[in-house]
Amino acid sequence: MVRIVPWWQLQWPNHMQPINGLSDPCPGHRFAHLCSKKIEQLLPRQFPPRGRLGESASPNKQALESSARSTESMKYHRFLSIPVLVVLATVGSIYYVTVFIFLEDWLGLQSSAGSLNALIFTFLASLCFVSFFACVLTDPGGVPSSYVPDVEDHATSDQQPIKTGIQRKRCDKCSVYKPPRTHHCRSCRRCILRMDHHFIWINNCVGLRNYKAFFVLVAYTTMASIYSSVAVLFARNGIHGKPTKPFFLNSFTLLFGLQSMILSGVVVVGLSMTLGTLFCWHVYLVVHNMTTIEHYEAIRAAWLAKKSGQSYHHPFDVGAYKNLTLVLGPNMLKWLCPTAVSHIKDGITFPTAHFPR
Ligand SMILES: [Zn+2]
Ligand SMILES: [Zn+2]
Repeated sequence: MVRIVPWWQLQWPNHMQPINGLSDPCPGHRFAHLCSKKIEQLLPRQFPPRGRLGESASPNKQALESSARSTESMKYHRFLSIPVLVVLATVGSIYYVTVFIFLEDWLGLQSSAGSLNALIFTFLASLCFVSFFACVLTDPGGVPSSYVPDVEDHATSDQQPIKTGIQRKRCDKCSVYKPPRTHHCRSCRRCILRMDHHFIWINNCVGLRNYKAFFVLVAYTTMASIYSSVAVLFARNGIHGKPTKPFFLNSFTLLFGLQSMILSGVVVVGLSMTLGTLFCWHVYLVVHNMTTIEHYEAIRAAWLAKKSGQSYHHPFDVGAYKNLTLVLGPNMLKWLCPTAVSHIKDGITFPTAHFPR
């Protein structure tokens, strides 16, 4: 019978000590890389000793506040990026082609069915734009300047990080302590709370505060591209049962030609498959309360667990439905609203399987 052991209780092989300078096992402590006493021995060499670990970050407080103000004022500059402009142009083009060419050819915009479909697709495209703007403009969440890791917990109990899965780490580049699930983004040049990944198509990180908007964006764009694919297939074949103009005389053929129509079909079908895969992937992540980074960390942790005959369990996985509500919100009616994010907390602490809150 295999015993399920959380990843933080796993023993690292001797050649894979994760923190430089902590390669010697601490006597009496099984987990040298988690031993707070060893961390405290190491930190003063890199950072000035203070009464509390967090106080050593105070010289950077002004810089962090200045950085936050700068980030706020610079958010509109994220639109001045070629990938972002490409996305806007692509979504706009797909909207135009779907409504004024595919739907026109399939149902005719003058008909009630055509008008209704155009209205539905316009609403869907609007949701895509709103979600996209929310992704670009929302700050993913930086480490607050007031963040102070409680070193006393470490000092008094070596079991604390083991129980919680929380390790106090410090970012060498930002010189701030990182809350759990925080990672440094080289593109943004700062630490991002609950960082998922840096997404060039929004010229922004996907983190704590804009992950929901990103998830909803992927959902809406998947729906819109599938809708568009259906429209192009029906327009191409003319199988809606209504009398149509000869294909070679329709407006699209006159404007763009058959090759362009085939190309548009390939683009929207390809987008549907790509976005559909991305959506399924993020549904998996949300249901397991994982970020993309944590997924790859989990692969390694699971490998280590398997080597020692144990099993891995993601510490922040508190059950599928609870995981969904942590990301999308407690009100199911607002799950697909990209701006309904009042449920998102500070990003400093998270419920874990051992300490559900
Ligand atoms: Zn950093
Ligand atoms: Zn980033």
